[in-house]
Amino acid sequence: MHIVVVGGGVVGMTTAYELNRRGHQVTVLERHPIAGNETSKANAAQRSYGVVYPWADPGMVFKALPWLLKQDGPLKMRLPPSVEALKFVFATLRYAWSPGLFGLNRRAMLRLGIHSRERFLALEKDLDLAFDGGHQGLLHLASTPEALEGYRATHDLLKELGIPSRLLTAEQVREAEPGMVGNGPLFGALSYDTDGTGDCHQFSRELAKACEANGVAVRYNVEAEKLVADEHKVSVIIVRSADGAMETLEADAFVISAGCWSNHLVQPLGLELPIYPVKGYSLTVPMKDSKRGPVSTIHDDNYKVVSTRLGDRLRATGFVELADFNRSIPEERLATIRKSVESRFPGCADLATAETWTGFRPMTPDGPAIIGRGPRENLFLNTGHGTFGWTFSAGSADLIAQVIDGEEPSVCLDAFRPGRFSES
Ligand SMILES: Cc1cc2nc3c(=O)[nH]c(=O)nc-3n(C[C@H](O)[C@H](O)[C@H](O)COP(=O)(O)OP(=O)(O)OC[C@H]3O[C@@H](n4cnc5c(N)ncnc54)[C@H](O)[C@@H]3O)c2cc1C
Repeated sequence: MHIVVVGGGVVGMTTAYELNRRGHQVTVLERHPIAGNETSKANAAQRSYGVVYPWADPGMVFKALPWLLKQDGPLKMRLPPSVEALKFVFATLRYAWSPGLFGLNRRAMLRLGIHSRERFLALEKDLDLAFDGGHQGLLHLASTPEALEGYRATHDLLKELGIPSRLLTAEQVREAEPGMVGNGPLFGALSYDTDGTGDCHQFSRELAKACEANGVAVRYNVEAEKLVADEHKVSVIIVRSADGAMETLEADAFVISAGCWSNHLVQPLGLELPIYPVKGYSLTVPMKDSKRGPVSTIHDDNYKVVSTRLGDRLRATGFVELADFNRSIPEERLATIRKSVESRFPGCADLATAETWTGFRPMTPDGPAIIGRGPRENLFLNTGHGTFGWTFSAGSADLIAQVIDGEEPSVCLDAFRPGRFSES
């Protein structure tokens, strides 16, 4: 089959890789001049297979308000909020209070995480890609005794699903992370022993090159404008080049992996995708003394900031902000991220010289991504991965390829079904 994939972020590129591997002819449409240049660019770099959960969590509701009110709290909302932001908040609350839904969705996401890890290992065996990647584990720090106690339930759930994890004392954390000599409060951590890291942008670009070498047509600087369909099938996609020239492209199947920009392509065909762009920020800087930086990746629960080693660079990331597509980078957000890093890994890098970035998590209000067949028989979706798209990319790409080829997916996709938002 000839399959068009819209979007050359990490999800679109892994999808193209899996489809090509199965013998399909693949064309990727990407409006940027390079792959992975939107949300996949400078994220927290965690392949956090064990730390995946829906934000629509009944417990989150009670944490959110204090976080919003705290000066350097992790949750921010632009005032006055837009209609889209309010719709996202109310829909998230509705899903959070749906009895039993959080637990079901969390398990579904963890199973996808397990599958994604397997697919990453297979992909890395198949292709020798340079992306500062590794699987050296992830530490979720506990800055209070209550936080450590709270990790017990997660530890039990991971054990039940066969995902290796350990509860560590503060001393064990310092042994695992010798650079962590700062004065931030520390009572221990939950260690996700088989989780990983990696530069998602570098990975996406390297994968795009490998795909092209294997015959995938990656077309940059083109905007997918519209799907043309009858009641059964999509026949063509209308594409605009950078010089404004319009073109119609025929294919046997179409996959939408356009992240935050997916809805406008499928909405005219009768499917509403309530993906909201949840903003975050990052700093990337070479480490001046790499022994003083993180060994792998740590989540500082005190500021909700993630610090990750990428080779000899440090990536520090934080904030959940509802501000629509506003791309400004306020100094106070960066100051909080710097404060967190200094409280854990003092002197590891000259943070004032860091490269700064902001990006938008393609969030669904209930949590799981949108993976499956769309509103026409040859239209497929692999999008809405929110805060875990790097982690899930290899797994979800394999699953959508299985669906396209008419196979039973290796992971149950009920929680990810595209039509669920219109079900009452
Ligand atoms: C601050 C922050 C930290 C994060 N940390 C992590 C993390 O540690 N681990 C993790 O797993 N995830 C993390 N994420 C989430 C992760 O980055 C995203 O889920 C993932 O990058 C989404 O990939 P994508 O390919 O779906 O979207 P994108 O990377 O946004 O790609 C979509 C692509 O589609 C293109 N496109 C859109 N519309 C069109 C069109 N009409 N025509 C042509 N091209 C189009 C865009 O240009 C873009 O390149 C983080 C996100 C943020 C913002």
